[in-house]
Formats: sequence, C-alpha cells, structure tokens
Amino acid sequence: MARPRKELSTVPLTPAMVNWAEALGDAIGRGMLRALNDGMPRLGSTSPSSTALTAGRRRGRPPKVMAGASLVSLDRRCTMEGCSREQRSKGLCSAHYQAERRRQISGSKSA
Ligand SMILES: [Zn+2]
Repeated sequence: MARPRKELSTVPLTPAMVNWAEALGDAIGRGMLRALNDGMPRLGSTSPSSTALTAGRRRGRPPKVMAGASLVSLDRRCTMEGCSREQRSKGLCSAHYQAERRRQISGSKSA
C-alpha cells in the first residue's frame, strides 16, 4: 500500500474512511467487551430488582414482530382457533372477518 491513490481511484474509499472504519470496529469490539462485563450476572452483590432490570434491558429497538405478537392480549385476540392476530370486529381479525364476510355474501347469493 505504497501508493493508495492509484489503487483507490475507482473505489470511493479514502484513508480517512479506513481510519473511521477501524475506529468503529475498535469501538464496537470494546463496546461488546464492556457489555459482556456489564451483563455478567453478579449474583448476591446486586439486589433482585436491579438484576431483573439489567436482565430485561436490551439495547436498541426491540424486534417489532415479537413485540406486536405479545402485545395482543388473550381477550383481544381473534376468536378463530389457531389465530393470534388482534381482533378487528365481531371477535375476528381483519383476515378472518373478511373471509367470514365473503362467505356470508356468497352464501346469501347462492341460497
Ligand atoms: Zn384471525
């Protein structure tokens, strides 16, 4: 890497960016180490409440799919068996409500 200018002429990678990437990797590595050290369960030295807090705390945004699924309480779930979606109307989720409606419409037509 004696003359990076020639090699990097086609690649938009400046030495500053390389430095930044290296610094970022270093920071991430150190952050992981710190998180590991902080996350180590120190049973006995901490109170139960603080232990639960640290155990339940997660960095960053929580997974949306999981949060949405757990947010629907049992009495608000679709009454259709095996369906865990939130009910929209008449105790059914939007998908099952539409299916039910379609069945009723087609049933009244044919009957
Ligand atoms: Zn449903």
